[in-house]
Amino acid sequence: MNISIDHESCIGCGRCVEICPAVFHLNESLGKSEVMDQDVCDFVGCCEAAEENCPVGAIKVKD
Ligand code: SF4
Repeated sequence: MNISIDHESCIGCGRCVEICPAVFHLNESLGKSEVMDQDVCDFVGCCEAAEENCPVGAIKVKD
């Protein structure tokens, strides 16, 4: 899977981190979410949920 976060759109709400902490991390100084480990996405099964629940549609998950 490939995950991307549009940092222009991300408002740093932290929702993706709550939903999928193994993959997403909030960069406090930037106020933006970052992807820690793309490969973990294939195992944890929460990346799509993070994509669906991002309030600004900043997360894109591709197979
Ligand atoms: S849920 Fe979306 S807007 Fe919120 S921190 Fe994650 S990527 Fe940014």
